[in-house]
Amino acid sequence: MGSSEMQFIKEAFDTNWIAPLGPNVDGFEHDIEKYLNIKSSAALSSGTAALHLALILLGVGEGDFVICPSFTFSASANPIIYQKATPVFVDCELESWNMNPDQLEEAIQYCLRRNKKPKAIIVVHLYGMPANMDAILKIANDQGIPLIEDAAESLGSKYNGLHTGTFGTMGVLSFNGNKIITTSGGGALISDDAELIRKTKFLATQARDNAPHYQHSTIGYNYRLSNICAGIGRGQMELIDLRVETRRQNFQYYEKNIGEIDGVGFQPESAKSFSNRWLTAITIDPHMNTSPAKIRMVLEENNIESRPVWKPLHLQPIFKPYPAFLTGHSELIFNSGLCLPSGSSLTSSQLEQICTIVAKTCN
Ligand SMILES: *Cc1c(COP(=O)(O)O)cnc(C)c1O
Repeated sequence: MGSSEMQFIKEAFDTNWIAPLGPNVDGFEHDIEKYLNIKSSAALSSGTAALHLALILLGVGEGDFVICPSFTFSASANPIIYQKATPVFVDCELESWNMNPDQLEEAIQYCLRRNKKPKAIIVVHLYGMPANMDAILKIANDQGIPLIEDAAESLGSKYNGLHTGTFGTMGVLSFNGNKIITTSGGGALISDDAELIRKTKFLATQARDNAPHYQHSTIGYNYRLSNICAGIGRGQMELIDLRVETRRQNFQYYEKNIGEIDGVGFQPESAKSFSNRWLTAITIDPHMNTSPAKIRMVLEENNIESRPVWKPLHLQPIFKPYPAFLTGHSELIFNSGLCLPSGSSLTSSQLEQICTIVAKTCN
């Protein structure tokens, strides 16, 4: 936390705005729009809720196809199942670890052969690294398929100088506790289409018709962010650039100190991309005398937490039955990857200790 969060919360208490809505919610949305240079946004209870509403707004329903990367967190795909639609998984490219445009084409052709154009393409910017948006946008536009950007991990990242989350029809942000900035729990749906965001806010507040009595013509959701959490968000938005800088410095420290080791690799950043480096993930060449699991255990023995990279969704028991267009890359990265400690409060002596342990284990 920074220094302003408590002030915004105190204001909420002092003015008795404890209800789901209030000035902090409006203020937080304004901050998001200004930072991302986007026309409209809706602060919501989670990134998952934002993704769910995005699918609803695009009319995704039973039996529809939605294309989704395989190499991501399960929350990217769960809302497809909430809508009883079918996820079609697309493997990653080695260049960014994100959606591979060639397999995206194949996945679309698979759907078209079944006489069903995909209702949406979800693209994820994994660990903050922008996906290959030039290629993916071209495919989405040529085929006339709406694009949803899951930017839950990439607030502050840019592609061609523009913020991730602002390329698609809609963008999803997350302010969960583990993300680069947090409201303890929260999310947002962003779009340049103000009408979509108006509908988002309507659906997120139980879909009440414009009538003095409680009247409903649509099924609604309780997905709005509270005025208290939004107060934390306003304080956190003051820190976002600093957080990005710190995370990138963590990455640079790792790159400088363990990047020379033969067989250690990092998630690559293209010339068009600027990653917030939310998490620094490394890969350990399978021919090395060590493994990601071994490094993780040695770090653990030193009371340092590291984590495996996301397990690809096409390998998850719950998602196995769904179609997947594979390159083998996500499985390769899953078997060779490790997320190193990447918090904004890491000290240089902690970073040094981690690098020393990793280097020793690689010997
Ligand atoms: C965290 C995350 C989400 C979900 O966000 P919540 O706010 O936790 O619901 C979705 N997609 C990705 C890629 C995430 O990392």
